[in-house]
Amino acid sequence: MVDCIFCKIVAKDIPSELIYEDEQIVAFNDINPQAPVHILIIPKEHFASLNGIPEEKKDMLSHILFKARQIARNLGIDEKGYRIVLNTARDSGQEVFHIHFHLLGGRRMTWPPG
Ligand code: AMP
Ligand code: ZN
Repeated sequence: MVDCIFCKIVAKDIPSELIYEDEQIVAFNDINPQAPVHILIIPKEHFASLNGIPEEKKDMLSHILFKARQIARNLGIDEKGYRIVLNTARDSGQEVFHIHFHLLGGRRMTWPPG
C-alpha cells in the first residue's frame, strides 16, 4: 500500500525503533507512548484492520500474540502484567489502517478504557 505509514516502516522507507522482525511481522516502539512499554506489532503484509484478515491468515494472528508474550517476557513485564490492544474500525479509535497490536506495560493500567 503506497500511502500506508506502517507499510513504509516495514519497507524501511521511514525510520522506526525496531524491537523485533522476522519474515512475517515487525515490532517497533510507538512514536507517542502511552506507557513505559508501548510497542506496536504488525504483519508485514498490509491489512487495514482485523475485519480484513482472511481465515487462511489466522496463524499470523497467533504468531503476533506469541511474539508479544515473548517480548513482554524479554522486557521483564510478563509477571507484573501487560495489555494487548487491537483497535478495529472507527468506534475503537483506530487511526492507522494497517492492523497493529499495541503491547502496553510498565505501569498499572486502569479499566474500563476510555
Ligand atoms: P490506533 O489508534 O490503534 O490506530 O494507533 C495508532 C498508533 O500508531 C498510535 O499509538 C500512534 O502513536 C502510532 N504511530 C503513528 N505513526 C507512527 C510512527 N511513524 N511510528 C510509530 N508509531 C506510530
Ligand atoms: Zn500498510
